[in-house]
Amino acid sequence: MELKANIPSGPIAQKWSKHRFDMKLVNPANKRKYSVIVVGSGLAGGAGAASMAELGYNVKCFCYQDSARRAHSIAAQGGINASKNYQNDGDSVWRLFYDTVKGGDFRAREANVYRLAELSVNIIDQCVAQGVPFAREYGGTLANRSFGGALVSRTFYARGQTGQQLLLGAYSALMRQVGAGQVKMFPRHEMLELVVIDGRARGIVARDMITGKLETHLADAVVLATGGYGNVFYLATYAKGCNGTAIWRSYKKGAAFANPCYTQIHPTCIPVHGDYQSKLTLMSESLRNDGRIWVPKKAGENRPAHQIPEEERDYYLERKYPTYGNLAPRDISSRAAKQVCDEGRGVGPTGLGVYLDFADSIQRLGAEKIGEKYGNLFEMYERITDEDPYKVPMRIFPASHYTMGGLWVDYNLMSTIPGLLVGGEANFSDHGANRLGASALMQGLADGYFVLPYTVGHYLASTRLDKVDETHPEARAAVAAVDERMKTLLSMKGKRTVTSFHRELGKIMWEHCGMGRNKAGLEQALQKIPALREEFWKNLNVPGSADDLNQSLEMAGRVADFLDLGELMCQDALEREESCGGHFREEYQTAEGEALRDDERFCHVAAWEYAGEGKKPIRNVEPLVFEDVPLQTRSYK
Ligand SMILES: Cc1cc2nc3c(=O)[nH]c(=O)nc-3n(C[C@H](O)[C@H](O)[C@H](O)COP(=O)(O)OP(=O)(O)OC[C@H]3O[C@@H](n4cnc5c(N)ncnc54)[C@H](O)[C@@H]3O)c2cc1C
Repeated sequence: MELKANIPSGPIAQKWSKHRFDMKLVNPANKRKYSVIVVGSGLAGGAGAASMAELGYNVKCFCYQDSARRAHSIAAQGGINASKNYQNDGDSVWRLFYDTVKGGDFRAREANVYRLAELSVNIIDQCVAQGVPFAREYGGTLANRSFGGALVSRTFYARGQTGQQLLLGAYSALMRQVGAGQVKMFPRHEMLELVVIDGRARGIVARDMITGKLETHLADAVVLATGGYGNVFYLATYAKGCNGTAIWRSYKKGAAFANPCYTQIHPTCIPVHGDYQSKLTLMSESLRNDGRIWVPKKAGENRPAHQIPEEERDYYLERKYPTYGNLAPRDISSRAAKQVCDEGRGVGPTGLGVYLDFADSIQRLGAEKIGEKYGNLFEMYERITDEDPYKVPMRIFPASHYTMGGLWVDYNLMSTIPGLLVGGEANFSDHGANRLGASALMQGLADGYFVLPYTVGHYLASTRLDKVDETHPEARAAVAAVDERMKTLLSMKGKRTVTSFHRELGKIMWEHCGMGRNKAGLEQALQKIPALREEFWKNLNVPGSADDLNQSLEMAGRVADFLDLGELMCQDALEREESCGGHFREEYQTAEGEALRDDERFCHVAAWEYAGEGKKPIRNVEPLVFEDVPLQTRSYK
């Protein structure tokens, strides 16, 4: 497989402008002759579908929720980065670029990251024009707060509901186009197969989740914006429905899967409280602006927080990383929390928790001011834990939150299947081995509003596409494959529920491919997962039929894909014999317990190619070159 990144030539700051000029344009009068399928209506898909329809393309947009407005992006709390430098504190496009490359531990493609930083400023203008109610200062200017991995304040926010407000903006733009007849929405439709004809992506097979009908939809290009696959861990901060099916099925049709082992474990989630829990809740990173993280100095401490005097507390992030303190990046903060818990200094009933304490800020600023900034997050915390964070410190612990891996794309966001473009969390492109907080919303909207509308047009203008219809053998074969698979899932009538398989897979993944990974553990996982998969395909019980709403059937299909994807994650983690960002191989660490990269052997993207059922996938490599931010050891001290 050839991985051509198609990075434009010239100085980094001019690449995107030059490329926009070099790309081919579709004559405005011809745009209505083209059709584009967008799978996903979150920030990346919603923004992309609306923008392409605005240009005149005929767009079909799919989501599995009952409304485009319920995509998982709506859950995003803390904010969105942009290098506007409104604070006059030293920010610039270059600094955001630098912070992101360094934050990703030098495992992202420089040119993509620079473009992201460059487009960040346009995003804010676009959203403000749509009426997104960003927080403002008294004088009316937009407010900012700080997020991890940066020494400047560049995060724009709408209280703790930034994703919701941004999504409402994108949704309004989308609905305008639905009203204009340019976008046809397909809610409650799940893409279950990609249709590839003559080597190009030409459509999808989707299941109407209400009637069970399988439908073939064909188009001139297909865009996937289907979000991340972090629910492979079962317990995660993602919405329960998030899954990897669309990208996994595309992988099996020839799209390379890049860096599957790069997953983000977020440090500030409400700790797990029992075996039968099905979901974890994030406490936004923005809380680390005013909350201080600590544990008792003594192991086995059992006094309540307020009885532990100041001198017996360890503010371990402030101690270890004096420059960034509580705003150290996520991978580093998560590992530090694990380390203190491993030492027996964790808090709460399970010992798997650390304090996030607002007492100092409340004393300094007053409870009202803190409530203005984080009121809804405090309320959510209290509703879940029955503890009032205005009075006692929150308890937090790391949990699966984001996937930096995803389908491999070139500079144009084109996968290795021509005509299949991938945006938002579903692709691998911009965050390397660790994503900085508030950068996912930025990437989703950059891809949707400002990259895909150009690069899809360029593809259409440069490609001759024959007319195809549903009777094409490839389209028929795709429908038959989905049908067959569902019949198999329904026919086993075994003894175990799909949730029990998912929970078991999650435990394997968390234990062996979570915050810390090592060779022996990964090898064990690579034994356990195939055994679990074998049992799944013999002993699964899916009640009901395929001709109706059947949530067990939906989940079964997704968990089947997670079983395969989890295995690929472990293979990738095993072969990457270095530590970088969220991928922490315990064998490769400095004397101080920090990640130890091996740039000689691993300064590259690993892009996995499907080799056929039962065959070991092929590991292809895209070398990474750092010309503008020279390779260096990442330090936040
Ligand atoms: C709790 C939480 C808080 C977060 N807070 C922040 C934050 O403050 N700042 C930040 O930058 N990032 C944050 N993130 C990360 C960020 O929210 C996500 O990375 C981002 O919203 C993903 O957007 P997306 O458009 O790529 O995908 P999503 O919003 O996940 O949308 C995926 C879409 O694809 C559709 N879809 C998926 N599969 C299929 C299929 N097979 N068939 C049909 N449709 C399908 C879904 O229906 C949905 O419409 C947070 C994440 C979590 C979990």
